[in-house]
Amino acid sequence: MTDKLLRAIDDRVDELTALTQDLVRFPTINPPGEAYTPCAEYIGERLKAGGFQVEYVRGEGTPGDNDRYPRTNVVARFEGKRPGKVVHFNSHIDVVEAGEGWTVDPFAGVVKDGRVYGRGTCDMKGGLAASIIAAEVFIAENPDFAGAIEISGTVDEESGGYGGVAYLAGKGYFSAPRVDHVIIPEPLNKDRICLGHRGVWWAEIETKGHIAHGSMPFLGDSAVRHMGALLQAFEDELFPALDKKQTEMPVVPEGARRSTMNINSIHGGQTEDFRPGLPSPTVPDTCRLVIDRRFLLEEDLDAVKSEVTTILDRLKSDRPKFDYTIRDLMEVKPTMTERDAPVVRAVAEGIHAIFDRAPDYVISPGTYDQKHIARIGHIYDCIAYGPGILDLAHQPDEWVGIEDMVQSAKVMALALRRLLAGGEI
Ligand SMILES: [Zn+2]
Repeated sequence: MTDKLLRAIDDRVDELTALTQDLVRFPTINPPGEAYTPCAEYIGERLKAGGFQVEYVRGEGTPGDNDRYPRTNVVARFEGKRPGKVVHFNSHIDVVEAGEGWTVDPFAGVVKDGRVYGRGTCDMKGGLAASIIAAEVFIAENPDFAGAIEISGTVDEESGGYGGVAYLAGKGYFSAPRVDHVIIPEPLNKDRICLGHRGVWWAEIETKGHIAHGSMPFLGDSAVRHMGALLQAFEDELFPALDKKQTEMPVVPEGARRSTMNINSIHGGQTEDFRPGLPSPTVPDTCRLVIDRRFLLEEDLDAVKSEVTTILDRLKSDRPKFDYTIRDLMEVKPTMTERDAPVVRAVAEGIHAIFDRAPDYVISPGTYDQKHIARIGHIYDCIAYGPGILDLAHQPDEWVGIEDMVQSAKVMALALRRLLAGGEI
């Protein structure tokens, strides 16, 4: 293809690589939220030099925010020549800890074999860099475009996004008329469009007992045994029932194309930190379990909850002395953008132009910041699209392919042209 826009991106491959390396060198580890401010300022300075108006917005008072670890977000906006639609690229700047097993320095931005290595290269600083280059090239090639382009670097996605996109959405940054279309360059692979995610319900269940001497457990009542009865009921009834609930949502990997539930944790009886020494013998009077239930568009959250509470209530009536409490910890509705939504069509056409094939449409098994954009911002023309191979996220020796970033940047630039310059793909 001999499109000037695409050639201009090819010409900037070294810059795209260097930008990714620079971003990776900020160790924006979350928790605790390291180096957010310098990373946000680096992005802001770069975009300001390109004519963007830049704002820093601290997620004041959100979880983890303090003067040592301020939740610093950057939001940049480039106004076109005339009013029109607004396309927003949102990337999270936080990364998870490096962990063990690296063969390169995770924060050095090592380039090797056509890849940039480092924590956060794939998830998702490579995507952020691709969106910055795409926007800059588009603006240079289409100086008369209508509307505006926004690029944000936001914090805390890995821990729920409360100090980042949720906070900004609460302040109107992700609502009409400020924004029309949102692309989140998460690493969903360069030829796939992620339309949304399954829903989430986390809850803590506590069973109650009665403390007694461990040598005479019949004088007490074991909360752990009560929890065992609940787990047995989950094994016998709930897990098989969830396995049967298939969805029309194109969730990847395919194993997640159904309802699932994870037991996140279980704690019963005494704490484990009796060492040095030995634990004293007691019957546990409390046991707590945290469940992580992922649900489908076809399911209703109240019904999802009542599957669990029905079992609990039955145990309460059938099992002597069984008592429980249940507490919601988190609820996120499933979301799936329509395939004929403008941003989906624009990115799909871009993928077609670059890869000569239709995109795969996928749904993420877990949630990401799209949940806040939909629920708080009420923007539904939103997808995740970006370079990087999802399976590499959070792994040792994480990397992003330079050619993948280049191709993704081209898709993003073509999508911008479609959405803002009325242009042909
Ligand atoms: Zn991510």
